[in-house]
Amino acid sequence: MATTKKTATKKVAKKAAPSLKFNTAWEYAPALEGTSHVTIAPQYELFIDGKFVKPESGKYFNTINPATEANLSSIAEANAADVDKAVKAARKAYNGAWGKMSGAERAKYIFRISRMIQEKARELCVIETLDGGKPIRESRDIDIPLAANHFFYYAGWADKLDYAFPNRKPTSLGVAGQIIPWNFPLLMAAWKIAPALATGNTVVLKPAETTPLTALKLAEIIQECDLPPGVVNILTGAGATGAALVQHNDINKIAFTGSTEVGKLIQQACAGSSKKLTLELGGKAANIIFEDAPLDQAVEGIINGIFFNQGHVCCAGSRLFVQESVYKTVLRKLKDRMATLIVGNPLDKNTDIGAINSKQQLDTIHKYITIGKKEGAEMYQTDINLPRKGFYCKPTLFTDVAQSSRIAQEEIFGPVLTVQTFRTEDEVIEKANNTPYGLSAGVWTDKGSKIFNLTTKIRAGVVWANTYNKFDPTSPFGGYKESGYGREGGLQGLAGYLHI
Ligand code: ADP
Repeated sequence: MATTKKTATKKVAKKAAPSLKFNTAWEYAPALEGTSHVTIAPQYELFIDGKFVKPESGKYFNTINPATEANLSSIAEANAADVDKAVKAARKAYNGAWGKMSGAERAKYIFRISRMIQEKARELCVIETLDGGKPIRESRDIDIPLAANHFFYYAGWADKLDYAFPNRKPTSLGVAGQIIPWNFPLLMAAWKIAPALATGNTVVLKPAETTPLTALKLAEIIQECDLPPGVVNILTGAGATGAALVQHNDINKIAFTGSTEVGKLIQQACAGSSKKLTLELGGKAANIIFEDAPLDQAVEGIINGIFFNQGHVCCAGSRLFVQESVYKTVLRKLKDRMATLIVGNPLDKNTDIGAINSKQQLDTIHKYITIGKKEGAEMYQTDINLPRKGFYCKPTLFTDVAQSSRIAQEEIFGPVLTVQTFRTEDEVIEKANNTPYGLSAGVWTDKGSKIFNLTTKIRAGVVWANTYNKFDPTSPFGGYKESGYGREGGLQGLAGYLHI
């Protein structure tokens, strides 16, 4: 597959006009990650009670490689009867071996999962990239190491819950139903499973229908780690499978990461039940550049925040606010940097922007690009050729964006950045908070006082300062407003799985 890269010459870099034509200054030779060490079975079953079993539904669906549209494997589709089997297995394990086990013993199993993910990291990162379309650099350096780190971190808490919540005598909830999206498949599974196991719960997890493979590999790892049967069950399927899990009446907790739309449905379905609920939903993060910021570093952070991983991040910095005095300079630097982004084969280690996860998501992104143009914003895309097969989108910038426009208010979940300007701190705080979401934000400035002012006034679960999209298992993550509630990660991530 052709990877395409172009860069700005010094001469054009000074002009900052949307009509710039960039010359190709340098090209990288392809540096493809190998796939010969990867095993993907032609068909996967459901993982229930420690075994891979055929679905009661008798149905299977295909998971494809979005970079090539080639079929990767046939995946079992769980129905309500399968959900019931999995929940029963999880309940039996909770009432049996797992529920009676000491925290120190549980920790050994969780630690073992972490080690096994590390051992299989090379295979897992390639599968993540094949199934999801994200650049290998990201799955290799972020997704898989962080997934292992989450298990490692939470293994450490399993025998220290009384210290985590002194004088509160924390107890586990029971069976957790967990539903995850396609943007960080294995990492999201780790975010959900690790704290649940550390706190003594058992789990039924449903991965997203477009990216089930690493969760199924995790099921194999869990089998190899000899976890008691039923402690972790993994059910593949689409929205109906997720809905059946949410509706099951022997579930004590639902943890969901996904769209705000589905989050609201789940909240309605859980209303009036005793199920505990945490929701990590959409976002429309403001990334704010003040005139005193280190501009090159800030531009790199903006690029990282929205274009790497195709904007498939709920905390993507999709709204850029630039202080008026540096607007022209920032825009020029941004366009120059955009022109050097490499869009193409996700398995190539040079690729910055891989494939959009699905045709459906690509259509959504195109829909928003059309809306942006109709709303009167000015669009800029770099002059590159996209691969002919697969789902790809050019990195896209919109200027002259009104605060009320849909591209500035609604989550696009693609490589689309809106740019607005501001003059004062109060003005940008007002604008940054003016969306239904509140998941994350970024501030770029030389002044600690501005950082403190903004981090206290921006209603977002995470505010990064002079960096962006940095994650660590010790740090809690979650939203305000329509970005959901509850926190995952850190000490706070334990609380969602305990009676305290
Ligand atoms: P996205 O827009 O990121 O695909 P979704 O919210 O549609 O996010 O999907 C996130 C997860 O929620 C996926 O695993 C999906 O199968 C699941 N899901 C979709 N619809 C429902 C539903 N009605 N109830 C429970 N889970 C659902």
